[in-house]
Amino acid sequence: MAEVVRNIQVKLNIPESQHSAVDQTFEEFRQAAQHVADHGWSDDPDHLVKAKNKLHKATYTDVREQTNLQASLVQSARNLAADALSNCHDLLEDDTNTSKPEFRGTVIVYNGRTITYNDDHVTLSTVEGRVKAEYVFPYHDEGTPFEEYWNEDKWEKREATLHKRNGEYYLHVAVENDVDPVSTDEKTENGVVLGVDLNVDGYLAVTSTGAFLGNADELNHKRDEYERCRGHLQQTGTRSAHLTIQSLGGRFAEWSRHRLHDVSNGVVREAVENECTHIAFERLTWIWTRISNASKFQQWAFREIQRQVEYKAEAHGIEVDTVAPQYTSQRCSHGECGFTHEDNRDGDEFECLKCGKELHADYNAARNVAWRLVQNWLKSGSGRATSQLALKSGTVNANGDFNASAV
Ligand SMILES: [Zn+2]
Repeated sequence: MAEVVRNIQVKLNIPESQHSAVDQTFEEFRQAAQHVADHGWSDDPDHLVKAKNKLHKATYTDVREQTNLQASLVQSARNLAADALSNCHDLLEDDTNTSKPEFRGTVIVYNGRTITYNDDHVTLSTVEGRVKAEYVFPYHDEGTPFEEYWNEDKWEKREATLHKRNGEYYLHVAVENDVDPVSTDEKTENGVVLGVDLNVDGYLAVTSTGAFLGNADELNHKRDEYERCRGHLQQTGTRSAHLTIQSLGGRFAEWSRHRLHDVSNGVVREAVENECTHIAFERLTWIWTRISNASKFQQWAFREIQRQVEYKAEAHGIEVDTVAPQYTSQRCSHGECGFTHEDNRDGDEFECLKCGKELHADYNAARNVAWRLVQNWLKSGSGRATSQLALKSGTVNANGDFNASAV
């Protein structure tokens, strides 16, 4: 079972007499989160505190004393700050410029203990006790996912965030559903695996179905450009140079995330179109032994692609798995051949010294990544007798028998 989460927005009608209680809660929640962020922050990633239990111990009592928030809201504020600190930590580790989280907006995070959903209203915890707020249903909002999720019992309402915009209150509700479009039994019998090969140059990702996705060279080039600019600006050392570095860093991070989303979308699209039950990647720790000179940025990019693919695949009930990639680049993936030799590969070219098959080297590697997962299933005796690798225009089972797909 995979849990899929969607976010929907509903406008709330909070009685005017209660506005001050809610607004005061926004302010105290903000202060609570800021207090935690102030405590945990350091511009040295080794000293930055992001662990929730540590932050809790260090700040809980103070925040309880300084605010009228109930315990669960104090914890929510701490979690919000912990997530922000964790993001900062990753950016600092990646040598990307960032600064201490500043909580300025109006937001309160509600969970099971601080919000109660009813048919036509919610009750929300505030610094002056519970407040009742009726839903203002967006009946006119055609095309929003609202109708699809709000009244459907299979979507369970979970955490929510309350926001205030232009004097109006909005609740963003996370709804959760367990999807399992392919039954577990069926999956065990008929696993279809999409293999993915990730690269630090050339195509970022190549699938066993022959999709060539993303441009690693472009990403590296932009990164170098950004580093050069940052270097020049740092030398000038002025405040405006510092601000420029920050905005450059932000834009670069956004740009690269977009590129990676294109890649992860492409991978998931391939898996869906080929009716795959699984997507297989090489285990990252193994990749770094193979590519020993990968930069922190490239490591981040690979992690990010896998992370994005995982949550996007989840929505389709597709599982993501990793395999140890021994010889994925040296093994011939053609039919039953499987001949493995380091001279099979020469740069982008793969030519099997035994059977003579010529393939793009990354495509060959991707097929081997898928093959490896199917092998793992066979070895573990998980009984996936008809497990298949999704390949260009068809699938191949673990024995190498090819089934042309009905196109
Ligand atoms: Zn061969």
